[in-house]
Amino acid sequence: MILNWLRRFMAGRYGFDQLSFALLLLYMVLILVTRITRFWPLQFAALALLGWCLFRMLSRNPQNRWKENQKFLTFWHPVKNWFTHRAQHARACKTYRFFKCPHCKQKMRAPKGKGKIRVTCSRCQHVFLKKT
Ligand SMILES: [Zn+2]
Repeated sequence: MILNWLRRFMAGRYGFDQLSFALLLLYMVLILVTRITRFWPLQFAALALLGWCLFRMLSRNPQNRWKENQKFLTFWHPVKNWFTHRAQHARACKTYRFFKCPHCKQKMRAPKGKGKIRVTCSRCQHVFLKKT
């Protein structure tokens, strides 16, 4: 009954995607910030985001909504990759020490806890000592 109605209602409409998800998330963050700061005008910004999210979901113009989502993704992927990279680095920092070649600034890493080691730079063959 209600599911059938919903299915009929959503037929030919765009539905949910990553941009809508981001809007919904941003909406919840803004509502939370509004509660904490008691800066009520923010609530309108939050409602505008929710409205935009609903408008996109119920839209009967999937081509345009798809294009918007693609634009959002080209912006979002570098952001996501940056965070993923930071997380990987943080994990690696527990077992590796990172440093740069004093000669050519090439980034390198060595396992932690090996004491003083002699490092040969892979790029410029510069040899130097490093404590790990
Ligand atoms: Zn070097």
